[in-house]
Formats: sequence, structure tokens, C-alpha cells
Amino acid sequence: MTSTPDTSSDASLDKSTTFTGWASTGTIELKKWSYHPRLLSEDEIEIEITHCGICGSDIHTITSGWGDLKYSPCIPGHEVVGKVVVKGANTTHQIGDLVGVGGLISSCGNCKHCKTGFEQFCPERTFIFNDTFKDGRGGLTYGGFADRLQVHGKFAFKIPDGLSGAEAAPLLCAGLTVFNPLKTLGAGPGKKVGVIGIGGLGHLGVQFARAMQCDEVVAISSGDSKREEAFKLGATKYINSSKPEEMKAAHQSLDIILYTSTGKNIDWSGLVDLIGNRGKLVVVAFLGESLGVPGYPLNVRHISISGSIIGGIETTKEMIAFAAKHNVRSLVEVMPMSNATEAIQRADDGHPRFRVVLDASK
Ligand SMILES: [Zn+2]
Ligand SMILES: [Zn+2]
Repeated sequence: MTSTPDTSSDASLDKSTTFTGWASTGTIELKKWSYHPRLLSEDEIEIEITHCGICGSDIHTITSGWGDLKYSPCIPGHEVVGKVVVKGANTTHQIGDLVGVGGLISSCGNCKHCKTGFEQFCPERTFIFNDTFKDGRGGLTYGGFADRLQVHGKFAFKIPDGLSGAEAAPLLCAGLTVFNPLKTLGAGPGKKVGVIGIGGLGHLGVQFARAMQCDEVVAISSGDSKREEAFKLGATKYINSSKPEEMKAAHQSLDIILYTSTGKNIDWSGLVDLIGNRGKLVVVAFLGESLGVPGYPLNVRHISISGSIIGGIETTKEMIAFAAKHNVRSLVEVMPMSNATEAIQRADDGHPRFRVVLDASK
């Protein structure tokens, strides 16, 4: 791929500088590519990236799982950690601060969603990559598989001391995606929580549920390979979902189920049977299939099924503080960003324990 800086938009670009990242043109193959960033506004900061996690939605986007790339080349990456190197006058960040950035990098700040802490629903929200800025200045967004990033100061979150960049990165999407519904659905003392799928999302879900002091945290996986690790992460019980007797023993025992697996041919009847009366199932994984859920138990046992992903600014701050305080840590495999293609392949089919994070210095 040639290093052709982006001039395809109407943004005022800073032609004096280039940011360099690892970009896709619609395949899993990432190549080095450079672009001119926008002129930094007073509300924005520029960060020098130290780490970026790899999430399933990075892979799904670049392999056209949601249709063709809107803008190509595309630099993925939305679990970004880096140091503040330039700050706009209106931001409260300090030069040298370690900050994290997730999927959202801007929103209007004035609509009903922004005013109630749900910036993810703002009609003018801007995603960190494969999107256009909606702040009236134009320009395309490029993500965190790169050396630098510009972001509105409100969407950069200070990483507390004691959390390393590599550990913190997956919190910005995976951590937020599991923390938000657990909190919203009332996980805590008196509640029994099941986590289906012990991977990038699930290993954090188990830790958050345990730290929220749920009565039981049940790790549910389709084999036994995660059993030992699940207990180390804080699970109080483990179910191998391919063993009917283990599923049957947990009949109607759970108040909340966090569904994090991307497995196929899901036995929805079997999963619904794990949920107690008035229980809740929340889907946080991107499913490749429709939910074939039986209706009758939903009626008679008042079961709710919902979905969720990421969260707003205040929820993100709360999640990071909670993770730091309660020692919720992403378990990661760190790989050099210069090997981004291999790292993506590892994340996609290599069953990492549990999340792959790119080190931007290598
Ligand atoms: Zn993600
Ligand atoms: Zn808004």
C-alpha cells in the first residue's frame, strides 16, 4: 500500500504532520499507511499511542462482516491507550497523562442522549475509525493501530496508577461492554450471575461480577478447557454447557446471564432454562444468527432478553475506577504492532488467553 495521506475530505488538515498506522483495504492484511490529521482543536488532545487492544469488531469491520468498508484504507483499533502529547486549551488533561480511548471519540454534548449519559446513541456520535467527524469540520476517522490519535478531551479517560497500558486497553471496549449491563441489571449481593463464553469479554465479566459481590458467579463454556482459569478469575461455579447433566443441575438458578460467546448453533431453550423467574439475559456478543428463543417461558416466568454494547462517558469513568479499585485486570497477550496482521489472525482464530494487545513501540 502506498503512503498517500488522506486529502479526500473537506477537513482542515495539518499538512505539516503525518500519523502512521496499520490499515486494511477490506481484508485481514494490514499494511503501513500514513495520513494527515486534522488541525487540533481547542477541545481535543493528541496522544502518542502505547497500546491498542484487538476486539472482534475490528476484525468484523475490516473483513466486511458489516458490509464493505465505508472508507478505505481503514486503520482499525478502538481500545487505545497512550500519553497526552499535545492538548487543546479547553481540555483538562495534562501533558504526559496516560489516557484510554474507546469506540467513541466525539458526540454533540447537547442532545437528550448526551445529556443523560448515553453518548453512544447521539445522532452526531463519531466512531474512532471508519467514520466521519460530525463536528462541522469534516474529516475521516482513523483508529488506534497507529502511532498517534486525536480525540475530544471528554472521550479520553485518565488511566489510574497501577493499571498498565496493556492491561487497561481491553477495558475501553470489552470491559465497558460487560460492566455496563451488569451494573444496569443490578448485579450485586443477592444476585446469581452466569457468564456464557469465557474469552475476551467473558473473562472480564466474571471478574466484574465477582467484584460486585454477586452471590454466585457461574462461568459457562462449551468445554472444560476454561474451567481452571475461570475459578482463578473469581467464578464460584463452572458449567460445561455440552454436558446436559451440568446444565440440568443449574435449572432456573440464575438472575442475570451475560451472553458473550460468538459460538454457532446456540441452544437458546437450554439457556433460557438456566434463568430464574424475572431473570434477565443480555447479549453483548455480536451474534451471527437470529435468536431462536422459545416464547412461552418468557411470558410465564417474566424473563427479559436485551442487548448491550459499550457505554457513555460517565459509565466509562466509573468502570475504569471500579476496575482499578477492585483489581479487575485484562489478561492479555502482547504482540508488536508491527506484526498487526499476525496479531489479528491470532485474535481471530488463535484462542488467545484472553485478549491480544498491540504494543505500539515495537
Ligand atoms: Zn470492541
Ligand atoms: Zn448528542
